[in-house]
Amino acid sequence: MRKAHNSKLKTHNSKIPKAITHNSKLNIHNSKLPNLDILSQDIMFLPGVGPQRKEIFNRELNVRTWADLLEYYPYKYVDRSRIYAIHELTSDMPFVQIRGKILSFEEFEMSARKKRVVAHFTDGRGVVDLVWFSGAQYVYKTYKVNEDYIVFGRPTVYGGRFQFSHPEIDRASDLKLSEMGMQPYYTTTELMKKRGLTSRSLEKVVKAMLQKITTPLAETLPDFITRRLHLMSRDAAMRCVHYPKNAIEMKQARERLKFEELFYVQLNILRYASDHRRKYRGYIFNRVGADFNRFYSDNLKFELTGAQKRVMHEIRNDMCSGRQMNRLLQGDVGSGKTLVALMTMLIALGNGFQACIMAPTEILAEQHLDTIQAFLKGMDIRVELLTGVVKGKRRREVLEGLLSGDVKILVGTHAILEDTVRFQRLGVAVIDEQHRFGVAQRARLWAKSENPPHILVMTATPIPRTLAMTIYGDLDVSVIDELPPGRKPVQTIHRYDNQMTTLYNGIRQQIRLGRQVYVVYPLITESEKSDLKNLEEGYAALCDIFPEFHISKVHGKMKSAEKDAEMQKFVSGETQILVATTVIEVGVNVPNASVMVILDAQRFGLSQLHQLRGRVGRGAEQSYCILVTTYKLSDITRKRIDIMCDTNDGFRIAEADLKLRGPGDLEGTQQSGIAFDLKIADIARDGQLVALARQEAQKIIDADPTCTSNEYAMLWRRLRQLRDTNINWAAIS
Ligand code: ADP
Ligand code: MG
Repeated sequence: MRKAHNSKLKTHNSKIPKAITHNSKLNIHNSKLPNLDILSQDIMFLPGVGPQRKEIFNRELNVRTWADLLEYYPYKYVDRSRIYAIHELTSDMPFVQIRGKILSFEEFEMSARKKRVVAHFTDGRGVVDLVWFSGAQYVYKTYKVNEDYIVFGRPTVYGGRFQFSHPEIDRASDLKLSEMGMQPYYTTTELMKKRGLTSRSLEKVVKAMLQKITTPLAETLPDFITRRLHLMSRDAAMRCVHYPKNAIEMKQARERLKFEELFYVQLNILRYASDHRRKYRGYIFNRVGADFNRFYSDNLKFELTGAQKRVMHEIRNDMCSGRQMNRLLQGDVGSGKTLVALMTMLIALGNGFQACIMAPTEILAEQHLDTIQAFLKGMDIRVELLTGVVKGKRRREVLEGLLSGDVKILVGTHAILEDTVRFQRLGVAVIDEQHRFGVAQRARLWAKSENPPHILVMTATPIPRTLAMTIYGDLDVSVIDELPPGRKPVQTIHRYDNQMTTLYNGIRQQIRLGRQVYVVYPLITESEKSDLKNLEEGYAALCDIFPEFHISKVHGKMKSAEKDAEMQKFVSGETQILVATTVIEVGVNVPNASVMVILDAQRFGLSQLHQLRGRVGRGAEQSYCILVTTYKLSDITRKRIDIMCDTNDGFRIAEADLKLRGPGDLEGTQQSGIAFDLKIADIARDGQLVALARQEAQKIIDADPTCTSNEYAMLWRRLRQLRDTNINWAAIS
């Protein structure tokens, strides 16, 4: 009771000068949190649990204590406060309740063994059918004609009449309608259902527990935040989330809990970033330097896009700030990230430092080398390549050149991370295609000079901003959201695999116009024999269909020299068609290629499709991407294909991908070392809350960068507590 009183006082205190509010805050964390002990109790002693069920809770849900159960949130709610009349029903309604009587039963033979039981049910104004496909005995035993029932289920139309199959039925006299609000639904497992632990029984256990918690739950957010953002108290939110009276209350409760969850995730990330910042100083590059200027005035043949200029500005600011830059550069395929990377490296050179750029594959590294050398033509800058295949004398020369400072720019793969690779003064490291490099690998780069080099991470797989805030929370984000002028957006077309003749005609037409064509086969793992067979057969078929053209073939099973030779034929225009697996996903740049055919497109993820499509549309010609699928498609696949046909915007695609797949599956989340273990928030759907949580957490870190101020002690303590109990959080740092 004392607590309740206290919290009431606080809400009144909103206008009271800082010192006093301050004080009351102190009060919270110094006072013993009365319900901490209650919440650490074993769930075994709750009514409806006991030793056996306790084991099931432990094993199936990882729920052991009251606190665990409290945070086992419902995944949906059904409004049981309202009874519908049968004539109001529509076929797009979710679960609804109707009230009335069973008129009669009827049985239909479905097969020798199976019968369907139908109860004709009326509310006096309309009739629906209640249907059971099994359990006839139980139905006859339990439900009687002319009793007053409340039926709950999802109405569907069958034979011109609404029906409810396997509905929940209660006697009207057993339900107190006035007390029924939103009914929570909890996820249960197969095993739980077998042991009679349904969502309903969970509901009862949770309710019993809430009744036993008589003192209000301790607040876990500072009141200056709850007050300003108009958030429910933790106590009210916890009670409402499990037992909301109405939809508004449910929404408010969930919002409060989601915010809290996201807020502490962000606080954790930002605390880590701020720590890092204080520990490491960044080199200060206060000049642009001669190399950059010479390149910009003599070698650069086109105008930078507005987005490129803006991003260069952001990078320049970072590199002058005295802090180590940790910047994520996002931009769609072909948006001109490589150029930005090059200019960033030139600034390092201009300040007497070296630079390196790392790519995930050898092919891509070699392509970067070519690009950079072409850009720097006529300038006296030593650029070298270091990959796994650079060996012996050549390798020694490169390593020596790095140590002496003679090599200014190193282009390579993971090989750069090896300990034997030493720089004289590494000032900037660029990492291309981030999601293949983890946080740990980034850290290895820091060890390569006295101060860590400035780091620019480039990714062509756009990540929704809110997700980036969480996965790459310690990185600042720059976005190139503009393509160089003159590009025609790629047209994307969906075709079924029974329309190949039209497709072949289209290909022939394009090649006769002088263009080149990619044909891509899925190869989920390079060892899948049947996939390889598909590709081989497809290659043979194309050779038959297009005897007049030359065709290259590339897949991951080939030796790298062989692969390069085949690729080279396509690059030089000697072959007109390139049949390939996803090895071409990153890197290849053939501006003359104008058609990308993706076979079995239903087997690719959205970001993969987008990457593949990015291989065309690099020249001045109109380009096409043809997604060929089987006729039968799942809903999700159809949505994926539709989105691809709809937009070329990588960010929209990434958002959609996130929504369709959930963040756990998103490429890169694994490697980045952060598994997602959010209990109530959903990064895909709660983007706005992520941003808000980020903003609030940032304010706290700005006010208390060392995380030591008494004013925020409650927050730091709570954060420690969360980190101690949540493995995934610990992984973030
Ligand atoms: P990304 O690495 O983002 O996929 P690239 O840096 O490879 O993109 O750029 C794609 C192509 O566009 C390259 O041939 C590059 O030279 C060219 N390019 C880059 N920036 C511009 C610009 N501002 N104007 C015209 N062409 C550009
Ligand atoms: Mg690129």
